[in-house]
Amino acid sequence: MLETTAGLEHVRKLLRDNTVPRLEGELAEIPQLREIHEEIQIIRETLFSFSAGDFSPVIKIRGIIPGCLKALQSHLQHLIWQVRLVEKGDFTQEVHFMGEFSTAFNNMVRYLHKTLEELRQKEETLTALTDTLRSEVSSRNTVVEALQESEARLKYLASHDPLTGTFNRLSFIEMAAAALKNAVKNKVRCCMAIMDIDYFKQFNDTYGHISGDEALRHIVRVLSGGLRKGDFLGRYGGEEFTIFFYNSDEDAGMAIAERLRSALASSPVLLENQSVQVTASFGVARAEGDPGEKEYVQKLINNADIALYGAKRKGRNNVVLFTPQLERDSSLNLKTKSELSAV
Ligand code: GH3
Ligand code: MG
Ligand code: MG
Repeated sequence: MLETTAGLEHVRKLLRDNTVPRLEGELAEIPQLREIHEEIQIIRETLFSFSAGDFSPVIKIRGIIPGCLKALQSHLQHLIWQVRLVEKGDFTQEVHFMGEFSTAFNNMVRYLHKTLEELRQKEETLTALTDTLRSEVSSRNTVVEALQESEARLKYLASHDPLTGTFNRLSFIEMAAAALKNAVKNKVRCCMAIMDIDYFKQFNDTYGHISGDEALRHIVRVLSGGLRKGDFLGRYGGEEFTIFFYNSDEDAGMAIAERLRSALASSPVLLENQSVQVTASFGVARAEGDPGEKEYVQKLINNADIALYGAKRKGRNNVVLFTPQLERDSSLNLKTKSELSAV
């Protein structure tokens, strides 16, 4: 009776205690108890491994409990294998051996599959949209570039003379007005010059209008090559060019104009079969008074023009400086270009 009570107490401890009770003394002599002790010990170790997530222990004992543990072990191992397949993208996996869990698992895999499929489709749509957007941005950039180019081209055309590439009258006057303002601010002197090719009508009559055009381009090249930094040239009209000399008093202005005249006279125009000398007359006017206004620029050009007629009257291929006396003389003597042509 005592042994039975002690045996039952041992089994109770085996089932409940954290540590395995030692089987010793008379109890160890009872073969059935030894057998139960070993089996319960194996079951404890197996369950302990399962609870720690390790389903690998080999269960070597037989009976209903080990049998159920083996079934549970094989289900869980199979489930792990299936989860690994799902992880690799196999959404055909279904579980049928774990009751409610099976239904939840199968629904989860189906939902996962559906969500991934929707995401893939959204990604495809997004990629297509990105491509469309990219090509739209690129064609928009092309249009913007073309617009910028044509805007720059328009600006150039609006401010330059198409034949010689130099500034046209309008932009020259604007630039001269700005330069004069700047000169006042920096307290420097400036001069305006106007240049007219000598006997150009005759040149055209002799060599043709196309050669005349070539002569105009040649003259602009020579003049541009002789300009200092800050000076600039514009086509005033026909065969007349205006030149602005920045930071030049009248002596400097006259000296630069003389240098340009001489450079022209010693650089013949190269035509197909011959080289032809061209000369030009220059009028120079000193800037003073109220600068910075376009009207004043025009007044300065008019003064230079009076001096230019003086140069023509002197026999051409000359540089003449504007003086008030010259203005009085010109209004008394020769008023118009037609009168001058007769000189
Ligand atoms: P002057 O010494 O008195 O200045 O004589 P000129 O013959 O040069 O004077 P005029 O003003 O009578 O003639 C200017 C000529 O310039 C007339 C015109 O045929 C020519 N001309 C004006 N613009 C152009 C052009 O763009 N190309 C060509 N080839 N000739 C031009
Ligand atoms: Mg002329
Ligand atoms: Mg002329």
